[in-house]
Amino acid sequence: KQDLAMRIAARLGAKIQTQTVHAVDDVCLSVASREVVGLVGESGCGKSTLGRVAAGIHPPSEGQLLWQGQPATNTREAQLKVQMVFQDPMSSLNPRHRIDRIISEAPRFHGQIRARDASDFAADLLQKVGLDPDFRIRYPHQFSGGQRQRIAIARALAVKPEIIVADEAVSALDVSVQAQVLNLFMDLREQLGLAYLFISHDLGVVEHIADRVVIMYLGRVVESAPTETLFDNPLHPYSQALLAEVPRLTTGKRRYQPIKGEIPSPLNPPTGCHFHPRCPLADGECRAKQPPLREIAPGHKVACHKVAEPKLQHGEQ
Ligand code: SF4
Ligand code: MG
Repeated sequence: KQDLAMRIAARLGAKIQTQTVHAVDDVCLSVASREVVGLVGESGCGKSTLGRVAAGIHPPSEGQLLWQGQPATNTREAQLKVQMVFQDPMSSLNPRHRIDRIISEAPRFHGQIRARDASDFAADLLQKVGLDPDFRIRYPHQFSGGQRQRIAIARALAVKPEIIVADEAVSALDVSVQAQVLNLFMDLREQLGLAYLFISHDLGVVEHIADRVVIMYLGRVVESAPTETLFDNPLHPYSQALLAEVPRLTTGKRRYQPIKGEIPSPLNPPTGCHFHPRCPLADGECRAKQPPLREIAPGHKVACHKVAEPKLQHGEQ
């Protein structure tokens, strides 16, 4: 059994004019050590916000972040243990700083390394992420998108995190480069025992990297399951619609209908089940009542009124 590395129970509201908008609404999420959790949903569903809560960048307005059972929000330790890698490394790498400075800045600030060791330290990390250690004397604009993402990963690793929150970390890269960076993430998990919260709008990417998938829709978790279970047997109509967009290499057939319509504004979310305006199965109950997230098989949770509780058959325990 895996140790629990992190658990977040969060509700994150922002006051916009007179209304409180919940970008993340009563979401509970945990990541075990060495586990890769894929967090999936359309843009605007709250997954990036949840990632920032996990990384201690935003404190939740209600709820808490637990680190190995202890409240961790805003503590230095939690901020170091959880590091983020973003979609666009160009905007997060200071163009006027050399790579060795970019990589060594945080561990120097936190007193983990001495100034005179910074350049060797950076060279070492560049090697870890598959780059030439001599790149330490160059500047961000001298690199390709894939190389810059490796530099951003090296910088995240510099403070020895236990969890990396990767927010659309491969989304801007060409498909072949995507595969290389995903492989790097997996190698680093093996070598360093890292866990990931891997945020993506792309279920196809998540299928390759995640042990478990959590699907969010408009600020709420609608389904959570081991990756294989989710791909073989998605139960929430929204998960099924997302899967319709992922081509099945084995059959080439579409099993489900793709999703219709736009994601509604979180400023004015639909009543009851937030998904009801787009759901082919919606009825009066769905419009009136929010479906709770229920565990319907070990490790498989779904929030939908129409997914039946498993019934015990004669002879079953
Ligand atoms: Fe569709 Fe109703 Fe299930 Fe929501 S609760 S996903 S509207 S069937
Ligand atoms: Mg986002």
